[in-house]
Amino acid sequence: MSVEIAAAGKRNVLDAMWRGALCRCPNCGKGKLFRSYLKVNDTCAECGEELSHHRADDLPPYIAIMIVGHVLVGLMLHMEMSWHVNPTVYLFTLVPLAVILPLLMLPSIKGAVVGMQWANLMHGFDRGYRDPATPDDI
Ligand SMILES: [Zn+2]
Repeated sequence: MSVEIAAAGKRNVLDAMWRGALCRCPNCGKGKLFRSYLKVNDTCAECGEELSHHRADDLPPYIAIMIVGHVLVGLMLHMEMSWHVNPTVYLFTLVPLAVILPLLMLPSIKGAVVGMQWANLMHGFDRGYRDPATPDDI
């Protein structure tokens, strides 16, 4: 169904972001989006959709840091107000969480960003898009 929708020119943003968050192709939902930790495949192995046009850049780490920061600050305030824990407890709990949680979240967040860009025909995902840096006679 999604391939038919994409062929008609309308792409569902939430479906594409959900498939991307599952690290799957935003078009078919079957092919793998990443070939390594955060490297997006150039094309989908299942449907052949071109995926190299994404420009996620710094948005996924920004979103991950924003989410983790809010969770950890809330957790730290709760711990301090409820139990008055020793500061070394923060060192051995919250600091590792501040490193591990963004790393765990990044692939799903990047996949959702790529799905959003794909669904909104951003950058080169629009089939009629022509890169202004590329000469016409190539
Ligand atoms: Zn696909």
